[in-house]
Amino acid sequence: MPNLSEAPPSLCLDHAGIKAWLREMEPANLEVLWAAADRVRQARVGDDVHLRGLIEASSHCIRHCLYCGLRAPNEGLDRYRMNGAEILDCALEAVRLGYGSVVIQAGEDPGLTQAFIGEVVRAIKRHTPLAVTLSLGERSDEDLLAWREAGADRYLLRFETSDPLLYRRIHPSLPGIPSDRFAQLSRMRGMGYEIGTGVMVGIPGQTWDTLAFDLLRFRDFDMDMIGVGPFLPSPRTPLGRPEAASFFAPPEEQVPNDELTTLKAIALTRLVCPEANIPSTTALATLDRAQGRELALMRGANVVMPNVTPVAYRARYEIYPGKACIHETAAACQGCLSGRIHALGRRIGKGPGGRLKSDCKNEPASDLHH
Ligand code: SAM
Ligand code: SF4
Repeated sequence: MPNLSEAPPSLCLDHAGIKAWLREMEPANLEVLWAAADRVRQARVGDDVHLRGLIEASSHCIRHCLYCGLRAPNEGLDRYRMNGAEILDCALEAVRLGYGSVVIQAGEDPGLTQAFIGEVVRAIKRHTPLAVTLSLGERSDEDLLAWREAGADRYLLRFETSDPLLYRRIHPSLPGIPSDRFAQLSRMRGMGYEIGTGVMVGIPGQTWDTLAFDLLRFRDFDMDMIGVGPFLPSPRTPLGRPEAASFFAPPEEQVPNDELTTLKAIALTRLVCPEANIPSTTALATLDRAQGRELALMRGANVVMPNVTPVAYRARYEIYPGKACIHETAAACQGCLSGRIHALGRRIGKGPGGRLKSDCKNEPASDLHH
């Protein structure tokens, strides 16, 4: 292990380089990483911060993910599914607030049928200029194609971890249907979706090696959108209870689910994927309500996803406890966020804010070599 306090690792962003940066703790060295990520963000995606209105359309879910409070076995939840008019109202509210796109997110809910979501997407497209992103879990190609034809522009599906063994443990397949999120991401790209993915930082069993490989996967797949947020344990889940102890990697290998590690992962994601849209996540804002959003925007992120779900539903979409911004109305969120964004000297992006593609090759941080 190099003595990181004497010299920062070079920014050769191969697996060893990324891993060394993820483990870096020296504040002066980290300043170099933050500055590089911010510079690349500004050069490649500019000062605009794109706002995507998040619509949490259903808290029903058939899956048993060991990390998520919406998992099917949780019987105590007061589950809901919004109707089409309610979802359209949320989209209209997003337009009133000046947002250029909405994200319709939900548990993996067969009650959100192909026909229902197709009709919702068509209605939003008919009545608004919004780009529409779906994040509805693992769905059949027939569903995905039908929604693309209805006008859906983007799809978010985090691969959660690139370690196949860990993935199978924390994200059990449905009977007879092996879960392969990478394959679905590839097929969706073929269908013409902009594709988004991401991982949680510090999930029990995630090692430094694995997280470094996750970031390389973002680059290999040239992901359009990449969400990286901390894992926040929920006592309603196996990974939030004492039984999670058996999942943890040895202490020197286990990635912590803290703010600093998440910020390093975001900054490195910007360096390996200079043109991706990278959100400052609500999970990070939950860990650090005072400055989590701002720190991510200063260290590589260029997107925020303010919640436009009716307040009455928000607390019922409990992925993890204590989620930030669940009591504020959509308008209050907008006011708070635009103040924070302007205070950073950044602008609110206009329009759908899709993936920019330039011809330049990745040359993110040449002056970071030593
Ligand atoms: N059901 C869809 C899916 O799984 O892709 C979309 C909704 S799911 C709640 C969205 C994301 O929440 C997941 O991809 C996961 O990364 C994140 N998530 C779930 N449980 C979490 C937790 N305890 N802490 C932080 N993020 C979590
Ligand atoms: Fe369901 Fe998604 Fe939560 Fe898994 S992460 S339990 S698929 S809502």
